[in-house]
Amino acid sequence: MTSAGTREATADLLHSISDYSASYLKDPRTEHTGSAVDRSELRRRLAAPLPRTGTDGESVLNHLIAHGEPGLLHSGAPTFLGFVMGGAYPVAIATEWLTSVWDQCGALYATSPTASVVEEAVSRWLVTLFGLPSHTSVGITTGCAMANLTGLAAARHHVLADQGWDVERDGLIGAPAPSILVSRGCHVTVHRALRLLGLAGQVRPVDTDDQGRMCVRALEAELYRARGPLIVCGQVGNVDSGAIDPIAAICDLTHDRGGWVHLDAAFGMWAATSPQLRNRVTGIERADSWATDGHKWLNVPYDCGIAFCAHPVAHRAALRTSADYLTPAPDGGRDPVDFTPDMSRRARSLVLWATLRHLGTDGVAELIERCCTLARRLAEGLSAVSGITVVNDIVLNQVLVAFTPTADTTEAAHLEHLVSVLQRGPVGWASPTTWRGRPCLRLSVCNWQTTSAHIDACIDAIVSAHRTAGAPARTTTIEELV
Ligand SMILES: *Cc1c(COP(=O)(O)O)cnc(C)c1O
Repeated sequence: MTSAGTREATADLLHSISDYSASYLKDPRTEHTGSAVDRSELRRRLAAPLPRTGTDGESVLNHLIAHGEPGLLHSGAPTFLGFVMGGAYPVAIATEWLTSVWDQCGALYATSPTASVVEEAVSRWLVTLFGLPSHTSVGITTGCAMANLTGLAAARHHVLADQGWDVERDGLIGAPAPSILVSRGCHVTVHRALRLLGLAGQVRPVDTDDQGRMCVRALEAELYRARGPLIVCGQVGNVDSGAIDPIAAICDLTHDRGGWVHLDAAFGMWAATSPQLRNRVTGIERADSWATDGHKWLNVPYDCGIAFCAHPVAHRAALRTSADYLTPAPDGGRDPVDFTPDMSRRARSLVLWATLRHLGTDGVAELIERCCTLARRLAEGLSAVSGITVVNDIVLNQVLVAFTPTADTTEAAHLEHLVSVLQRGPVGWASPTTWRGRPCLRLSVCNWQTTSAHIDACIDAIVSAHRTAGAPARTTTIEELV
């Protein structure tokens, strides 16, 4: 194809995807939020062997849309309450597209001066927004999992360097054994990060209270037993209950012992941006490292996470990458590659920049406050119904609900049936968990489009699913649905 022909083909493809995008976003399918087809059907449509001969781009896209759309989870819908997902602001989606068009390698200043400077700007904006120390360093990652890994790699460097041990040069064999105290309610990705860092064997769990908050007494007891370099992992926003650990006490106790505090704040971190909610995260600025997400509560598309570190030297020492062929940023400036586990990567800073610029500091705070207000409305509406109990304190955007079966069945079977009804319906898609031994429905309000009318519709759907699930009908199992 000539280069003029290629340009035309590119423009045609972008036009058709733009038309499709506009209609998909304007009229999201309403009959159900979950997949309309089963796995074998999706495999039949999408998983055939790769043909020898190629196909033009337009046909490829048409095929993917026709056969892929029925298997989507419409998690961007304003009545979707599953996991902690969030939607995507239009400006964020458009900037994602621009990011692909520009196709910048975000590793170095040399590979994209614009992405690098935008990343610096976004870093400063976020540090200010969260009220962190002004010297805090930042890495933009794929998600909070990688942000946890980043923060804990910096922690490992720092606490071992304090003992005169250079873990980047000498590894862990023979190193002073650290004590790593981790809340029992900690997210799985904190444990995986510690595993990847070779620290799994050093982990001591710290007990939590009925909300999932770390118990200060239990921490004190573990600290009393702890030996060697110390890292304490706290949580700001339990993935089920939204509970926030007693951050100030954790920082006091840990710093008294010369230890490092890492906070997994995937979504709870955003409470720090709101003057109304800031007192829920008092002391947050005193931690040593933090991990959060852009793709959850800020409503940017997947993927986007952010790692922060109050010790830029440790942060850079843990992740620094240099080679003769890599041109360092001028004047000893910052290269993004030195602050995350990636090298070549998407210029994710652009979407953060655009979304934050679009919202301003007031807009971010308003989004977070609105979701928390709606979560309270959801909890109040549900707990007014007999047989429905909200089991957590609504401190953020998470609502955990237990159901007393109306028919002669177990709570677990009742919940399973209720979830299957919700997941087949158009409104209130949600998923189950087990909270302190009790089967519960977990609900999360984190979509920028959600209004009180949407929440009321979700309440109706959940109450109706509860009543349907209680009716003496045949139980549909989750296995039958997938
Ligand atoms: C979602 C979540 C994570 C993992 O974040 P990803 O963005 O999925 O990598 C870690 N911790 C908590 C508390 C979370 O909610």
